[in-house]
Amino acid sequence: MSYAGSNPGPSDPSDPFGPSRPRRSPLRRPLTVALAALVPGALLGWLAYGAWGGTGSGGTDGPRAGAVPSVLGSATTGEGGTGGDGKTGAGTGAGTGTASAPAAGPGGASLRGKVVVIDPGHNPTNYLHTADINSKVDVGTHRKECDTTGTSTNSGYSEAQFTLDVAHRLRAILQRQGATVKLTQDADRPFGPCVDERARIGNAARADAVVSIHADGAGAGQRGFHVILPGAVHAGAADTRAIVGPSKDLGKLIAGDFTRATGTSPSNYVGDGTGLVTREDLGGLNLSTVPKVFIECGNMRDTKDAALLTSGAWRQKAAQGISEGIVSFLRG
Ligand SMILES: [Zn+2]
Repeated sequence: MSYAGSNPGPSDPSDPFGPSRPRRSPLRRPLTVALAALVPGALLGWLAYGAWGGTGSGGTDGPRAGAVPSVLGSATTGEGGTGGDGKTGAGTGAGTGTASAPAAGPGGASLRGKVVVIDPGHNPTNYLHTADINSKVDVGTHRKECDTTGTSTNSGYSEAQFTLDVAHRLRAILQRQGATVKLTQDADRPFGPCVDERARIGNAARADAVVSIHADGAGAGQRGFHVILPGAVHAGAADTRAIVGPSKDLGKLIAGDFTRATGTSPSNYVGDGTGLVTREDLGGLNLSTVPKVFIECGNMRDTKDAALLTSGAWRQKAAQGISEGIVSFLRG
C-alpha cells in the first residue's frame, strides 16, 4: 500500500486531448470576477469555522471494517503463543531504522499528549542467553520464564526481527500523528526484557495503550492473525480487572483494522474466526495496569503466512492496521 504510490501524473503526454487546452474565452472573464468576489467571503467563513474548532479529527479515519464479534477463550503455549520449537538462530541486525518523528502533518496533533508503548516480542539475541531468559519471574498467577527466543520462519527469518521491524514502522506512523511512543526494547540489550518488566514499562509510562507485537509458531496450514486480550486475573501482583474492558475495546479495533489494512483473515486455528483470544497466563498482560493487547500477526511456520510476514510491504500494511486501531481507541 504505501510502497505502491505510483500515481499517474496529472497530464499524460500521450493523451491527445491533453495539450490542447481551450484558450480563455471572453465569457470566462465575468465568471472570474465573480469568483474573485466570492473567495474572500468563503475564506472568512472557513477561518471562523477553524477558530471554533470545527477542523475536527484529521484524516486517518477510514471506513471501519465490521467489528469483530465476541471474545472466545483459547490457549496456545508460551508468552505470546510461540511454542517450544522456537530456536531462531537467526542473526542480529534488526535494522534499527530510527524513525524519528517528522513534524506533525495536517491533523497530526490529534495524538498529542497520548502515550503509546510498543512491545516488540522477544529479542534478536535472546537465543544467546538461554539461562537468563529461562530464569523464572513472578507473573501473579504463577512463575514462568523471563522470556523466550520466539519462533522463526522455516528459512530463518526470526520472530524477533519481525517484531522489531513492525514496531519501527508502527512507531513512525504514530509519531507522525503526534503520539509519544516508547519501545520496551530496541535490540539495545543482550536479552529480554523479562515479561514482568515489559508490563512494568507500560505501567511506568502511564501508557494510554500498549501493543505487544508477535508472530506465531503454529503448524503448517494454520493461518491468520489473532489479538490476545487479558482475561480477568486477580492473583498476587496481578490485577487486570480494571483493564479487561478497555483492552477488549482496543483489541477489537485493532483486529478490525488489521483485517482491512492487510487483507488477511483472522486465525483459522484459535478464536473461532473472531481473531480474538483471551488468555490469563501471559505475564505481559497479567501485570499490566494499562490497556494492553498482544497481536500474533500470522504463523511463521506456515509457508503462505511466512511469505506475507517476510514482505516489507505487508509489514507496512500490518503496522498501518495496528496504528489505525490504536488511533480509534485513543480518540474514543
Ligand atoms: Zn512471540
